Amino acid sequence: MKKYESDAKTVLNQLSRLSDFLKGLDVRASANESFNFPLEIIRQTMMFDVSVLYKVSNVIENRLILEVIKILDPGGLRPDLKEGGKLRLFLDDPDKIHINEITAFKNKAISYANVPGVGCDIIGYVYLPESLGGAYLFGGDFCGKESSIKNFEVASVEIMCNFLSTILLKTQFEHQAEYDSLTGLFNSAKIKQKVENLLKRAERKQSSIACIAMGDIDFFKKVNDTYGHIQGDLVLKKVGEILSSSMRGVFDVAGRYGGEEFLLIFDETNEINTFRIIERLRKNIEETKFEKTDKTGKIVKNQFLNITMSFGIAQLNKNADVKSVTGWIGQADNALYESKQNGRNKTTVFKG
Ligand code: GH3
Ligand code: MG
Ligand code: MG
Repeated sequence: MKKYESDAKTVLNQLSRLSDFLKGLDVRASANESFNFPLEIIRQTMMFDVSVLYKVSNVIENRLILEVIKILDPGGLRPDLKEGGKLRLFLDDPDKIHINEITAFKNKAISYANVPGVGCDIIGYVYLPESLGGAYLFGGDFCGKESSIKNFEVASVEIMCNFLSTILLKTQFEHQAEYDSLTGLFNSAKIKQKVENLLKRAERKQSSIACIAMGDIDFFKKVNDTYGHIQGDLVLKKVGEILSSSMRGVFDVAGRYGGEEFLLIFDETNEINTFRIIERLRKNIEETKFEKTDKTGKIVKNQFLNITMSFGIAQLNKNADVKSVTGWIGQADNALYESKQNGRNKTTVFKG
């Protein structure tokens, strides 16, 4: 196992490298890349090559169950471990080989054994967001030339672990506070705040133009009732994808307003242009083949489902001086209601 030559300067450099790395990280984009992601972070930021990465898979009574995610052990010091295998350890009576793993897990901190002349075994603990797998233990055995580890190196690895865990969790919380987890669009609170911002701006600048559009899936209850909730969720997810891929960049914003209702914002766009965009979107949805699932959620090959959506558009202060978020959204809702009344799969502009 390789340990990088370290003095205080190296440690500081490594910490600042970690800081830069975390700043440039897009947790959302990386979330799907499964286990390579935590390993990559740990690899990039620690001062030694990771020899083993475990995911804390479960604790059952007094047993800690670790999944062996990766072994990078050129020294062949851990022939007992197999990638993808499970390690079952006793929490209250750990065997000698895994005492560091148990201690690190119990204390949620670094654990290390430094035996002069023999070697050093260090295990770190990192807690990532649940979507990235939760808790991980990682470590290395150092022998020969690399055998001893200095106290300030241990301390800096500890700082790195805490730093890593805290920043990733904070990023996830921030994300959850603004985004809907199913569709990835803005959540209802955030989209209402965006609407509010436009109203505030209109107070300052009378000439500003903006439209909102409320969209609602037609007969969505029937999708759930006929094919189940998992199918319903899949349709919502796909609609979310279609909406966000139709957005034009900085001026357009989409959010999930409620169950199967979506609110779209078109800044600096009048109702005529908004109508055109929404009509294109409505037809796109009408023509989309939605994947079909059975009740257990498994995709059924070559079977598809069609859905339609109704929309209502309201331009800001077109016919009445709207002062509140609910007032403006209410206008879009009225127009949407008209689309529903007129047979659904339609777009209506609020006329006042
Ligand atoms: P309409 O054309 O008039 O809009 O009819 P509808 O059936 O779409 O409308 P209704 O309001 O009667 O039903 C909406 C359904 O949306 C009922 C609810 O179970 C479902 N729903 C709301 N949120 C979710 C969700 O997150 N997942 C799933 N699968 N269904 C949801
Ligand atoms: Mg509805
Ligand atoms: Mg509906």
